[in-house]
Amino acid sequence: MQKFLRPLAVFGALILAGCAAQAGGPDGDDFLMFGGPIFSDGGAAQADGSTQVIPAEALVVRDGKVVFAGDLAAARAQAKGLPQIDLKGAAAYPGFVDSHVHLTGVGLREMTLNLDQVKSVTELTEAVKAWDAANPGKEPLTGRGWIETHWPEKRFPTRADLDAVVADRPVVLERSDGHAVVLNSAALTLAGITRDTQDPSGGRIERDAAGEPTGMLIDTAQGLIGAKLPPLSYARRREALEKAVNLYAARGWTGGADMSTEADDVKALFELAADKKLPITVDVFMTPEDSAEVLKRGPYSDPTGMVRVRGVKLYMDGALGSRGALLLAPYSDQPTTRGLQIAQHDEALAIMKQALKVKADIAFHAIGDAGNRQVLDWMAEAFAADPAAARQVRWRVEHSQIVNPADYPRFKQLGVIASMQPSHAIGDLYFAQARLGQDRLKGAYAWRGLTATGALVIGGSDAPVEVGDPRIEYYAVAVRKDLKGASGPDWHPEEALNRVQALDLFTINAAQADQRPAGWGRLIVGSPANITVFSRELLTVPEGDIMKARPVLTVVKGRTVFDAR
Ligand SMILES: [Zn+2]
Repeated sequence: MQKFLRPLAVFGALILAGCAAQAGGPDGDDFLMFGGPIFSDGGAAQADGSTQVIPAEALVVRDGKVVFAGDLAAARAQAKGLPQIDLKGAAAYPGFVDSHVHLTGVGLREMTLNLDQVKSVTELTEAVKAWDAANPGKEPLTGRGWIETHWPEKRFPTRADLDAVVADRPVVLERSDGHAVVLNSAALTLAGITRDTQDPSGGRIERDAAGEPTGMLIDTAQGLIGAKLPPLSYARRREALEKAVNLYAARGWTGGADMSTEADDVKALFELAADKKLPITVDVFMTPEDSAEVLKRGPYSDPTGMVRVRGVKLYMDGALGSRGALLLAPYSDQPTTRGLQIAQHDEALAIMKQALKVKADIAFHAIGDAGNRQVLDWMAEAFAADPAAARQVRWRVEHSQIVNPADYPRFKQLGVIASMQPSHAIGDLYFAQARLGQDRLKGAYAWRGLTATGALVIGGSDAPVEVGDPRIEYYAVAVRKDLKGASGPDWHPEEALNRVQALDLFTINAAQADQRPAGWGRLIVGSPANITVFSRELLTVPEGDIMKARPVLTVVKGRTVFDAR
């Protein structure tokens, strides 16, 4: 592979004259950063997939913007009197952006029982027992984040498991993918579910051999208990969002694209920004139900510019695990089904055409190869009606998870972005072969295949479906093994990206997808000082060391929003 050495020092030749030297201008802080490698630029310009970049020695930031990136001596000469940030060997990167997150869900996961680290049925019940002891009461105990894929028991949890630890209050625990919940007996009673309750359309009440409900509710059956739980109050929603954005800053994210956002979330985000309690930038894609304003006005932002309402999130199909992803051919492990189509053509096209009219963006969920093809078809249909407007929007396919290779080039041709979640692959590839069979695995989580066509690929976590950790996403896309370093025989390691491309996914590619001005997603002269600092250098460390990196410092628009130095 051809190496490319990027002469970063040339950026230092430009100096913005006339800036005040005091710290903390109206638009952000002033400082000199040095003492560790500063990756000014991932190397997105290199179509050859370059794997080597020379980091800058120092950055000078004034009024929240980079005014110099280059060697330390030159930086010192023009940064006299500025506060100094000594990285002490840590490494700085352009700010990481999570291009697909559900912030309210991330916050609620923190405020309720967080089960994302639970590794067995036993650990699950222990966690429930401990939470109940620490938070006694009669109101329903709710939690989220469990996923049984690697549990030694190799089964779903049941109501009997939960009854053994908490019998006197309802317990409702949502699976990490949001497609299932497990209830104890008290919660089944609260939901009014008995052996005689019929499965609702689009959902299933799991039953044992004797016909008794096991406690597991799948897809729309979750509504039976959801309707009985207290609704989310505005105060609690705002608290959840505040927790989520602070957690995100502490993990090293400088921005995120919030998906399926509700009107009250937008209200709370705008308030947080006005109160200077929003550390990261947030781009918003509304639920169709709450999309009237953005479809009327087009994209708009709060007065601080930290929150931008960009468009609408639509759903074409379901998820692969629950066989809801829409496939071109039947599931390999269930030949009677090709999955589930959620969106209807006329309804979706009406939203898409209106979005195009006001230059709003569409983020269309598609997992299966038929789902992806159909989204591309519909986007092409909408674009054909107004080709000029089509060039001004940045529509995206959320997940782009299983794509027929014949459709790869269509992303670039249409100018449609593949918004992908690397961590889904390192969890899903354990069961993807059963669902898809050998041949279709070629088009699954095809990060390199899509990148190679020139398509813009961006990376996100889909938290709280996944943890929401930039290191995990970076590791997954660059290594394509699970976090223990293991991978299956058909994981197609050639679909991993190199380290530079992996960095691009979360930085410059995200900036392009978000229609940010030139300089965003990089740390060059004129860039906003959005900086993620990890304790380790991620571009050349052995793959096993990526997860040993620790978030050290997060800077957004020149302001330090997280500092663990
Ligand atoms: Zn999502």
